[in-house]
Amino acid sequence: MATNGETKENQAGRHQEVGHKSLLQSDALYQYILETSVYPREPAPMKELREVTAKHPWNIMTTSADEGQFLNMLLKLINAKNTMEIGVYTGYSLLATALALPHDGKILAMDINRENYEIGLPIIQKAGVAHKIDFKEGPALPVLDQMIEDGKYHGTYDFIFVDADKDNYLNYHKRLIELVKVGGLIGYDNTLWNGSVVAPPDAQLRKYVRYYRDFVLELNKALAVDPRIEICQLPVGDGITLCRRIS
Ligand code: SAM
Ligand code: CA
Repeated sequence: MATNGETKENQAGRHQEVGHKSLLQSDALYQYILETSVYPREPAPMKELREVTAKHPWNIMTTSADEGQFLNMLLKLINAKNTMEIGVYTGYSLLATALALPHDGKILAMDINRENYEIGLPIIQKAGVAHKIDFKEGPALPVLDQMIEDGKYHGTYDFIFVDADKDNYLNYHKRLIELVKVGGLIGYDNTLWNGSVVAPPDAQLRKYVRYYRDFVLELNKALAVDPRIEICQLPVGDGITLCRRIS
């Protein structure tokens, strides 16, 4: 059994599914990272949430433990205090964020589904960080529009993590670039989209992978030429593109 209670075969299969094999030389190498540097240092509440989430039918959506570790360190490095997350699911990346923020740190967390957030909520509460989270149920775009209209949220966010509907990422970007501080970061998740960004036209792709692929390709192109940001696309998880607002 692997440390998270799954068999190694199951884990290896899932890693392949989210494209790690195409990012690293082998599943064994990814397993090595997890077992050497990630699982032994994973905070107990994150481990508990990962194990609870592993039993949920949509567990493929969760942030991987190595990406959670990366986000947690990144937030500490930039001294993030005021943050936002679009796409919560059961809350693994949310908890990684909440644990990294100071006691008076804040996270505006949005998801169309509150039920899944409630799976993780007791663990987040037990970890003593729930007071940092303002969860809003519903689509994120109207909330962002309202914030833009209000005016008082412009340039106020240190960090924004976007991990939701990929066909809206460019719509989010249009608004988030106003809401993030100059010098702040937006992280767009899944920008390698299961490795499909380099799949040949006749490749056999799952329906949802094929559908969202064009949106991810379009986003990647747009971010690469956006003069308002500096970018760094990392092969962590399913690919994360960090955008630092410069103007
Ligand atoms: N960050 C999460 C984690 O660490 O487990 C994973 C998020 S999951 C990949 C994507 C989430 O986006 C789903 O929970 C889904 O309900 C949510 N979502 C989809 N469309 C949305 C929308 N328009 N606004 C807000 N959330 C949305
Ligand atoms: Ca993701």
